[in-house]
Amino acid sequence: MRCMACAAGDTVADTTTLSLSSKSARLSIECVPAHVCTQCGEVFFDVEVAERVDEIAEEAFTTDAADIVRRFGEPS
Ligand SMILES: [Zn+2]
Repeated sequence: MRCMACAAGDTVADTTTLSLSSKSARLSIECVPAHVCTQCGEVFFDVEVAERVDEIAEEAFTTDAADIVRRFGEPS
């Protein structure tokens, strides 16, 4: 699809590692399906993916760990 950031590039399906942080912890989610612009490198996520990321983050930040790594699509 056409990139919504630069409007010049096209996006390709890829996976990426998302880094999120809360007050006390850092979370990395690996292998997140994404659309990456071949021109500017902007990363876009499908709505379902973004929702799943939210769920993973919510669950992960309930743990006491300071450095959390999750893999997208795997049961946590
Ligand atoms: Zn772009």
